[in-house]
Amino acid sequence: MINSILSLDVQSKICLVRVDYNVPQNEYLEITDDKRIRESIPTIVSLISRGAKVVLMSHLGRPKGTFNPTFTLAPIAQRLGELLNKHIVFSHDCIGDTPKSIINQMSDGDIMLLENLRFYKEEEENSQDFSSRLAALGDIYINDAFGTAHRAHASTEGIAKYFTQKAAGLLIEKEIAYLDKAIHSPKRPLIAVLGGAKVSGKIDVIYNLLPICDHILIGGGMMFTFLKAMGHHIGSSMIENDRIDTALQLLHHSEFAGKLHLPTDTIVASNFSNDADTRIVDCTDIPDNWMGLDIGPKTIEEFSALLKKAGTVLWNGPMGVFEMPKFEHGTQSIAQTLATITSLGALTIIGGGDSAAAILKFGLENSVSHVSTGGGASLEFLEGKILPGILALEM
Ligand code: AMP
Repeated sequence: MINSILSLDVQSKICLVRVDYNVPQNEYLEITDDKRIRESIPTIVSLISRGAKVVLMSHLGRPKGTFNPTFTLAPIAQRLGELLNKHIVFSHDCIGDTPKSIINQMSDGDIMLLENLRFYKEEEENSQDFSSRLAALGDIYINDAFGTAHRAHASTEGIAKYFTQKAAGLLIEKEIAYLDKAIHSPKRPLIAVLGGAKVSGKIDVIYNLLPICDHILIGGGMMFTFLKAMGHHIGSSMIENDRIDTALQLLHHSEFAGKLHLPTDTIVASNFSNDADTRIVDCTDIPDNWMGLDIGPKTIEEFSALLKKAGTVLWNGPMGVFEMPKFEHGTQSIAQTLATITSLGALTIIGGGDSAAAILKFGLENSVSHVSTGGGASLEFLEGKILPGILALEM
């Protein structure tokens, strides 16, 4: 059993909350997407409105175990303060006397953010000593960092054993509720749309979802490994030669016959650039030296026709190189179709990472049911894995 924060008496208690503030920033350290900060607010507000002292902790980027001002969480404290219209105290260290002396002066309802956990290599090493030093800061442990829940680190896993009172935050509860519903009690047909660069990153998801889903639609760079396995020429398109056998096994798995759908046409380019010459060709007819960088119009029509009948859709990975305007159309069209079917009552769940970035780019974030804050975490959930950061909360 995992506690909800709503069942805890937090009055005057120091609640140590692991959040995921690993947000994208530009070269001036300006936050370019604050979704993860906004999504942490319901948990924080629930706690402070019930008289808790909230101590937030997070990582940011990959500072590799040493202090590096590029990865400071100070700009995040600032943004959180703006969003909450409240002063957020910032601790320049995440363990030891600096945070302890600030905590001693906190009043009920105050919020503090600790400096980047990954300035200590012990965080990613899941060091027992580091876990216990973090744990010493609080009375109650709450994990709301869905984006990091697939990692067994000190602040997500090691720390939990030091608390008799621990709970999942409201964001983790929401993320799991959507994914659970899709996997265990979906409104059918259940369709998965999988794209992105490589088959290797999605093999386990395909194996886990094939028995559950009614259809799986494949796009992105990974489609070409399947096309090659089917004996087609793929020009200079992206290929993972060591995955051709796996692709072939998936295509010929009798139990799954008719469930896997591959594109029938593609936009090929003379080189990997937005200035490249392009052509629309059938997937059986890709010319030598041309590379497929998006799905074609026939495929968009075929995929959209299936999606229009869906009760539930899980989407992970773009249909093409959506970062370049010339190759964004496939991803944008699928995103638009998902927005349409959402308005008609379908449940649409977008995995984090690049699919979330695409949805944001096309301004459709609020037109689908749920956009996950965790790319890796949602992928591992869909692979059928148990996330260590969530398992550690079991009472
Ligand atoms: P992933 O992290 O595996 O979901 O991959 C996302 C990346 O896949 C994005 O940056 C896309 O630009 C890239 N991508 C999608 N389609 C293709 C393609 N046909 N060829 C090369 N890269 C692609």
